[in-house]
Amino acid sequence: MSSKPTRPQHVFVVERTERLSPHMVRVHLGGPAFEAFVAAADPERLATTDKYVKLLLAKPSLGLTPPYDLESLRESLPKHDRPARRTYTVRAVDHEARTIAVDFVVHGDDGLAGPWAASAQPGDLLALSGPGGGYRPSEDPDVTHVLLGDDSALPAISAALEAMPDTATGIALVEVAGPADEQDLAHPTGVDLRWLHRDATGAEPGTLLLEAARSLDRASRPVQVFAHGERTAIKAIRRLLQDDWGLEKSEMSLSAYWALGRAEDRFQEEKREPIGVIFTE
Ligand SMILES: Cc1cc2nc3c(=O)[nH]c(=O)nc-3n(C[C@H](O)[C@H](O)[C@H](O)COP(=O)(O)OP(=O)(O)OC[C@H]3O[C@@H](n4cnc5c(N)ncnc54)[C@H](O)[C@@H]3O)c2cc1C
Repeated sequence: MSSKPTRPQHVFVVERTERLSPHMVRVHLGGPAFEAFVAAADPERLATTDKYVKLLLAKPSLGLTPPYDLESLRESLPKHDRPARRTYTVRAVDHEARTIAVDFVVHGDDGLAGPWAASAQPGDLLALSGPGGGYRPSEDPDVTHVLLGDDSALPAISAALEAMPDTATGIALVEVAGPADEQDLAHPTGVDLRWLHRDATGAEPGTLLLEAARSLDRASRPVQVFAHGERTAIKAIRRLLQDDWGLEKSEMSLSAYWALGRAEDRFQEEKREPIGVIFTE
């Protein structure tokens, strides 16, 4: 059986953590890996506002220390015991402090990355590879920006709003658990930032986001859309934007960031199955 080529791992050190809200923890990662990470990164990817990295997380009970020799662990450990990959946005790169910040949704005891971040301590090690990324808001003053996301896309949406020129116009809809999960985001006054509170309704993640997106007037062109979050909602938003708004694929950055009831390993595998396909054409 052929195995995936291993990507270079950067082993960062947790410098500090910040509780941004009841359901979001920011982890500041630094140490010697910072220089190597920036030096090895494709500058175009580094300039995107949705740049993401692949974290490698090992079960603490196995006592493994990063970097992980994935080739040999493939031979020695059953699949469920090998370090697992989780995908996270780089919220910010601080060249002065020589750190990167990653914001994690704290979504309970399930999973690896959320619980890891919730209990991360200064000095903890984290192996990651990347960055990838593909979106940066246009600086064209005629463009209408439409940003749609749930908590998992909040880091990327925040970075996008920060990178926009002051004159930018558009709308950002962000679904979070409740009012305490709102963040004070820097954003152009011409971008209407609206928060949607899921917990008060008992709705599944993404439901309010979809409803709110459906109630929007079709944005005037030229338009640039950034829509990411729970898969079911993103699939429906894709249909709304393509079928009702008549947008072309090239006008949208749109993908699922996670799927309800699926760990990321399964969610990524399903991208090759009909259930995981967002764009059907
Ligand atoms: C390009 C990209 C960028 C991303 N950026 C970020 C980011 O910056 N911050 C961030 O928090 N997430 C981000 N995500 C989403 C993140 O990768 C997933 O949420 C991931 O599944 C979390 O891993 P885990 O180990 O905590 O949970 P998993 O082990 O993957 O899942 C365990 C259970 O938790 C559920 N679950 C997973 N995520 C959530 C969630 N957000 N809310 C509620 N339930 C959940 C799953 O459905 C599953 O039932 C990004 C995803 C992609 C593809």
